[in-house]
Amino acid sequence: MSHSTEKVKVLIIGSGPAGYTAAIYAARADLKPVLYQGLQPGGQLTITTEVENYPGYPEGTMGPEMMEDFRKQAERFGTDIRFGYATAVDFTGPIHKVVIDGEKTIEAEAVIIATGASAKWLGLESEQRLNGFGVSACATCDGYFFRKQDVAIVGAGDTAAEEATYLAKLCNKVYMIVRRSEMRASKAMQHRVMNTPNIEIHWNSETVEVIGEKTVSGVKIKNVQTGETKVLHVTGFFVAIGHSPNTAIFKDWLELDENGYIKTKPGSTYTGIPGVFAAGDVQDHIYRQAVTAAGTGCMAAIDAERWLASQEKI
Ligand code: NDP
Repeated sequence: MSHSTEKVKVLIIGSGPAGYTAAIYAARADLKPVLYQGLQPGGQLTITTEVENYPGYPEGTMGPEMMEDFRKQAERFGTDIRFGYATAVDFTGPIHKVVIDGEKTIEAEAVIIATGASAKWLGLESEQRLNGFGVSACATCDGYFFRKQDVAIVGAGDTAAEEATYLAKLCNKVYMIVRRSEMRASKAMQHRVMNTPNIEIHWNSETVEVIGEKTVSGVKIKNVQTGETKVLHVTGFFVAIGHSPNTAIFKDWLELDENGYIKTKPGSTYTGIPGVFAAGDVQDHIYRQAVTAAGTGCMAAIDAERWLASQEKI
């Protein structure tokens, strides 16, 4: 296959709130941004239902619809939005090279990385084998398939607590598998979980195996204190143990923290490489909100514009 090359001024990688907001600002600054959407156009908000905490929507809005609005707004100012996934980068020279789908190289003067984060998995063979056949990392996407059935969810953070209560409304019974004797989730969320009668918590428990040939029929758990194992008879198994940043292709070029998030200069979106900026969840392990991602997307476009001006590239 022939490998083509294209030169652009500003390349944005990612299509969540950070990427689209960077695009809105860059396009309005006449930087003619090209944006590649990645594997999940619209990002993590497309797999949520209601968003109630994004300012400007007093009645709340749906995540997928909100991301459609972000996309349209970026397009309205002339962002060139494309399907495609960044598979490699070369940040050696003053011109930054980003390979798309292994077959095309974009040469950009400035790059804004907004690749976000993805769900973590336990790493069990059975979990991988039954992924999509009863195993899911998104209760709000897949919970509906298990209505009136019994399901299990692993995790004890705010996501797990939120998803457990969501599942409890649809499902007959929800088993929550918690590895310690306490939850990490906020007190308010824990309170909601404890007050939901059809959620049953299994403390100090780890998942040994997801059981099932073609689809999930159970999950084997082990109490780490007593060593006792038991099988929960469920048809759905949800994993809600956090996220990892999508930074694999950048690890040889940019400084990452111990969890793999891109390090930016405090109070800015500058990475260690001039002309490469990072915004949104890929560089934020603390706030991880749509509105903070959008905020840093705006910062990245402004940082890129000022940096290009300082290099006399615009
Ligand atoms: P967190 O990192 O906060 O929690 C992950 C949970 O998964 C922890 O309870 C952790 O256990 C558990 N866990 C991790 N690895 C394993 C494993 N291998 N086996 C079993 N359990 C495991 O992730 P969340 O996605 O819940 O939240 C991320 C951020 O988003 C947080 O800051 C959260 O507050 C925020 N958030 C806020 C919401 C809201 O305000 N409405 C909703 C959702 C998220 P342990 O505690 O033992 O480490």
